[in-house]
Formats: sequence, C-alpha cells, structure tokens
Amino acid sequence: MALVSFKNTILHNLVSKPKTRRVEKEYPAGTRGHVENDMDLCVLCGLCSIKCPTHAITVDKAAKTWSIKPMSCIQCRCCVDNCPKKSLSMGLRFQEPGEEKVTKTFKLSDKAIAEQEALMKAAKERAAAAAAAKAAQAAQAGGAAPAQAKPAAPAQTPAKPAETPAAKPEDK
Ligand code: SF4
Ligand code: SF4
Repeated sequence: MALVSFKNTILHNLVSKPKTRRVEKEYPAGTRGHVENDMDLCVLCGLCSIKCPTHAITVDKAAKTWSIKPMSCIQCRCCVDNCPKKSLSMGLRFQEPGEEKVTKTFKLSDKAIAEQEALMKAAKERAAAAAAAKAAQAAQAGGAAPAQAKPAAPAQTPAKPAETPAAKPEDK
C-alpha cells in the first residue's frame, strides 16, 4: 500500500508545476550593487583609493593595476562620485557571498597604457620646449645687461677729480 502511494507521489511530482514561485532578478534603479571599473578609462590617479572610507581600493601605478577588496566595500559610492575619469560605476548585481576576503585586481588595458604613455611623452616634450625657451630668454637678457652697465660707470668717475682740484685753491 505504501509503495503504491509513493509511486503516486512520484508521478504527481513529475507532471505538476513547482509549488514555489521563481524570483526574477530585477534590481531597482539606484541599487548600489558592487563597484566596477572600466580599465580603458582609468588613469590610476588614486583618488578613489584616497576617498574610500574602508580602504577597499588599492592603486599600484608601477604595476598599472587597480585592486578592490569586495568584502571591505560598504557600497557608499564615494569612489564612483569622485572618479575624475568616470571609469567607476555601481554595477547592479550584488556582491557574491564568499568564505574568504579576496582581492580582485584589474590591469590597465593596453589601449589605456598606450594613451597614457603618449600623454606623458607629449607632456615631457612640452616641458623640454618650455625650459629651452626660458634658457634662451635668460641668455638674451644676460647679453643685454653688460651693454647697459658699461656706459654708466665712466660718466661718474671723471666727476670726482674735477671737484678736488677746484677746492684746494680756494682754501689758500
Ligand atoms: S579615481 Fe578613477 S581614474 Fe582615478 S584611479 Fe580611481 S578609478 Fe582610476
Ligand atoms: S563604494 Fe565606498 S566603500 Fe566601496 S570601494 Fe567605493 S568608496 Fe570604498
């Protein structure tokens, strides 16, 4: 009898719909899910790291990497609001739970590295040109100064001997 009842339950479960409802993963607008960084836009300025109240973000300029500890992030959005390049955003998906405090590291894209190297090269060239122009100006000013100083000195020197001989005959 029990075997018949068990078979009936199995058959019923095979053909019937689930008793639970499927939960649709729809996040409302403004959800602060998790921080995402577009590594094509990031310039590794480090401002997000400075502004983060929980020190969840680390920027390594030498290694050209940007890292975040998702378990330390409190989704305050401070880094997103202060990123000058707007490379940060709050992704809608919530942070996945985990057993370990992992650090997620992202490397700057090749495109971003090439752009930054080009910008640095242009800045160095501008600085060199400005320094050369300043040196040329200084050289011009240095060459003009002695030409003005020379005529002034002889004009004062002959005046003194002219006064001294004139005073002596009057005293006698
Ligand atoms: S503030 Fe923005 S551009 Fe600067 S390091 Fe952070 S993510 Fe990159
Ligand atoms: S959202 Fe807030 S806590 Fe999370 S990384 Fe950005 S500044 Fe830090």
